[in-house]
This record gives sequence, C-alpha cells and structure tokens, in this order.
Amino acid sequence: MSYLSHLECSLTGQTYDADHLIRLSEAGQPLLARYNLEKARAELDRDALMRRPCDMWRYREMLPVRDPQCITTLGEGGTPILKLDNLGSHLGLPHLYLKDEGQNPTGSFKALGLAAAVSRARELGVTEFVIPTAGNAGGALAAYAARAGLRAHVYMPQDAPLININEVQVTGADLHLINGLINDAGREAATDAAAGGWFDVSTLKEPYRVEGKKIMGYELAAAFEWALPDVIVYPTGGGTGLIGMWKAFAEMEALGWIGSHRPRMVAAQADGCAPVVKAFHEGWEATEPWENASTLAGGLRVPVTIGGRLMLQALRQSDGTSVAVSDGRIFEAQQLLARTEGIFVSLEAAATVAAVQDLVAQKWVHPDERVLVFNTGSGLKYRLLLS
Ligand SMILES: *Cc1c(COP(=O)(O)O)cnc(C)c1O
Repeated sequence: MSYLSHLECSLTGQTYDADHLIRLSEAGQPLLARYNLEKARAELDRDALMRRPCDMWRYREMLPVRDPQCITTLGEGGTPILKLDNLGSHLGLPHLYLKDEGQNPTGSFKALGLAAAVSRARELGVTEFVIPTAGNAGGALAAYAARAGLRAHVYMPQDAPLININEVQVTGADLHLINGLINDAGREAATDAAAGGWFDVSTLKEPYRVEGKKIMGYELAAAFEWALPDVIVYPTGGGTGLIGMWKAFAEMEALGWIGSHRPRMVAAQADGCAPVVKAFHEGWEATEPWENASTLAGGLRVPVTIGGRLMLQALRQSDGTSVAVSDGRIFEAQQLLARTEGIFVSLEAAATVAAVQDLVAQKWVHPDERVLVFNTGSGLKYRLLLS
C-alpha cells in the first residue's frame, strides 16, 4: 500500500534502506523518506482518494507504513480550513484563511507526526519510545504509544503547561520534568535512551514525524482544489511542518496533482527565540543556537534545531520570508482572533496573525492574495494570559 522506496540524507543525497530502523544519516543530518513517485503517478487516482474517509490515512500510499495493521490512529487529520472574513476585513485581507490543526487528537498537530512515527517504528519493531518536548509532542507521543500498547518516556521542561504534564501522566507514560529548555531535555533523553535502548523520536532525528506533518500540505491542496494559496504563514519551532509541507508540494507536483505554483512560505517566530528569522535575514545557510531563549509560546522556544538548513531552503526557494513578533503582540493577536472569529488558538499560532499584521503593513502581502495561517494547537491547552 505504501510507495515508500528509500531514505535520503537531506545534505549529501546518500541513500539508505527504509526498512530498517534508523535515525540520522552518517553526516548527522535529517533523513527524508522517498517514494516511487513514477509508479504512484501511474496508479494513484487523486479523486478516488478524495472519496475515502477524511483523515490523515486517506493519503496512506504517500505515508511510510506498509502493513495496515501497524497503523496507530486516533482519527488525526482532516481538519478544516476556515475563511476568516471578520479578521480579514479588519486586516484588509479579503482572502484570509486558517487551517485549524487544533482540532486534532491531543489538541495539536503534533498528533500527525507522532501517529506516523509511532506507526512506522512499531512496524520496524520498536517497543519503547523517548521524546524531549516543549509539551505538545510529549502529549501526542504518550497518547499514540498508549494506543499501540507501547511504552513512552517523556522529557519536558518543568515550566511546561500543566495540561501537557497531565496528558502525559494520565496515559501512565514515564514523565521526566527537566530544569531547563527543550534542548536540555533532549540531552537527558538521549543519554537515557542510549542506556535503555529506547527509540528517540526527537524532531527530525528520525525520518517519519515529518511524513505525518506533510499531510497538512496534501490536505490544504485538496481544500483549495489543487491551486495552492499565495502565502502560508507557519509558527516555526523545530520546523517539521514547514519542511513537511514543502516536501508535500514537490511530491504532489511529481504525482501530477498540482502545478509548479508554490506559496511564499513565511516562518513566524517569537522575538525572544528567533534563530530562523536571524539566519534568514543574515543570509546564513543554517541556523545557529539562540542564547537565552525566552517566549511563553513553548512550541516556538526551540533554540537549537537540526532542520535549520531545510527550513531556510524552503523559505528562500519559495521567495518567502520570516518574521519575529513579541510575546505582547502574540497575546493581543490571540484575543483578536478569538474576538473576531471565535477561534481560540495557541500562542504559537497567534504569532502567525501578528506576523500577517506586519506583512500587511510592509505591503509584503497584497489585498488580492490568498493568505493561509496555521493554528497548530488549541488555545484550550493553555492558560489565558490577558495582556
Ligand atoms: C511544536 C509546535 C509548533 C512548532 O512546530 P514545528 O513544526 O516543530 O516548527 C508550533 N505550534 C505548536 C502548538 C506546537 O506544539
């Protein structure tokens, strides 16, 4: 059922067998899953897929799981794209849309990546997982591991939102609260993983979370009837969603599902942790660690990321840009969206609305363009911080 053919090093292009367990390439870089796109192009009927149930696995041939019995699902995917007429007229953008990934299981789009990673790792024999997380990825891993009857070890900063702590605890997963940031959690997780023989599903350090998240790209293409929007603004931490969507667009073009038009991709970050914005505007090829990272948007508080080069490539190849906004503006944008549209988004997602305000002011986006922002997590998972 899957057209998965092999894995490829995102830096050197070196290829690897996809059917045994692997994390990074020999060059220490993310591996990307490759599919037999020619065969898929000949055999897959896009419109027949659209008649399947509306969830992530509608696109299962373009996902890495070979045995349907290994699919571990909580119904992720198939989230709506909502037109924001009220906010759009407030901002002078009549074609403003939001894809609401907050409606996923566990309340965030981390469900997509971890459904794919847990399903595939389980197929390859993994029984114990470990993850460092700002919060939402840990909740999602705990849920999917429980669903699969497998064990999860979650390493989370001790100041993570209480709901993230609770959602891990309730599954019976092994929770470690860390005095530090996600990269500190990552260090401890890696040490314990090596000792315990657990499979580490850190962002982009195994090939399949990005495969789940790329489905956002397939879904948005379908929702826009295979004519992609002009601008996509994405709240960027580790960058899996950005990298995944960019990959999805290339795959869909090779499948003959879309043409060569690409949205201009925009990374929105918090100004207290903006390594991608900095590297983009400095013209660097990769990101550098951000000192003293600080933002209440936990999913954006990612000071060190292995996916920097891939994110910067997507931003530049798409003629996109990247924008940093303050936490104060993030709180305001969260309330603006709720007051105008009734949508309670995560702080991370609110950064995209603040970024759109800046892009309109700079005339970087034009009123006739179709602009899509992402709600990556439900605001219900967060304590409301009134500004
Ligand atoms: C993890 C997370 C992000 C960042 O996502 P990446 O794809 O890793 O950049 C954004 N928003 C929320 C709510 C998250 O949980």
